[in-house]
Amino acid sequence: MSLLIDNIGELLTNDGPPLTDAAVVVDGDRIAWIGPAAQAPAADRRVGVDGAAVLPGFVDSHAHLVFAGDRAPEFAARMAGEPYTGGGIRTTVEATRAATDDELRAKAKKLVVEARRQGTTTIEIKSGYGLSVDDEARSLRIARELTEETTFLGAHVVPAGVDPDAYVDLVRGPMLAACAPYAKWVDVFIERGAFDGEQAREILVAGAKRGLGLRVHANQLTEGPGVRLAVELGAASADHCTHLSDSDVDALAGSETVATLLPGAEFSTRSPYPDARRLLDAGVTVALATDCNPGSSYTSSMAFCIALAVREMRMTPAEAVHAATAGGARALRRDDVGVLRAGARADLIVLDAPSHLHLAYRPGVPLVKTVLHDGVLQ
Ligand SMILES: [Zn+2]
Repeated sequence: MSLLIDNIGELLTNDGPPLTDAAVVVDGDRIAWIGPAAQAPAADRRVGVDGAAVLPGFVDSHAHLVFAGDRAPEFAARMAGEPYTGGGIRTTVEATRAATDDELRAKAKKLVVEARRQGTTTIEIKSGYGLSVDDEARSLRIARELTEETTFLGAHVVPAGVDPDAYVDLVRGPMLAACAPYAKWVDVFIERGAFDGEQAREILVAGAKRGLGLRVHANQLTEGPGVRLAVELGAASADHCTHLSDSDVDALAGSETVATLLPGAEFSTRSPYPDARRLLDAGVTVALATDCNPGSSYTSSMAFCIALAVREMRMTPAEAVHAATAGGARALRRDDVGVLRAGARADLIVLDAPSHLHLAYRPGVPLVKTVLHDGVLQ
């Protein structure tokens, strides 16, 4: 079954300059053809989009969707002046451990559907609210039902009352063994109060030995070893990158490691935003993601993150949209999403707007009108 989408006012492909008066032909779950509307081949079905903008579906490369409970009171307290420390993760761990599989599955699925409705066609999901062998493994089992981009984050925080070194041994030993069958990636929260560089190295190296790709939570609240360790170990992405030294920026610029910026976290913790301009000007590949989680960034909206990146982080609208699509794909080491070209996955969105500029120009407005995911109109 093939589908012709035409009357496209602006087509962003991330595979060359934007096209006007363009058309896309989809065959099954793949893009079959892209070019000028006048030359489009025939298809089984045609959808005209009335001059709207069309772009790749968003690639959200950082989300924590398997959890129970919410932390709205903590958010309210923070807005009233209390600082964010990351300690609230333990609150979610308690609720998550107490929840049934069905409760966790239903909540995670609801968030995936919510994100997809807003244009996210690829989403990464981390564990990290179980922090025991069984609870981490079931979190990843549930995540794997919803996405192929699953990340083992047993090293999110040391559970209350547990010796940190003993916990690191558990994470890189039995917990990793139980989780690796359901995980594509391994991640560590490297931060004061979470894990230090040496603990992170042990866990990441153990994960790599099991065949998992590497990603890290790095330099979110303070400067530290996270970014440099990510680059040294060849991680796909260093996420947050809010507090960077010049050597961190240099390391990223000379590497294949993407800097994934998560402005929803700075928004929701009322913290200074990362300096996207400094990274882009140094030649670093930048991704934008939601960090959707119940504590520090409870948004599933990539469009909101684009608007924040433009308004607060001095990215141009084109840079922000690129970071939310192609950047996310790079952060997941994918070349079949975040781009529209023949052979790529048929994941695209149609805006209720004539250009991508509107994603930042009209913040908070639900501009994603139509989502095509795996070639299927949602
Ligand atoms: Zn995170």
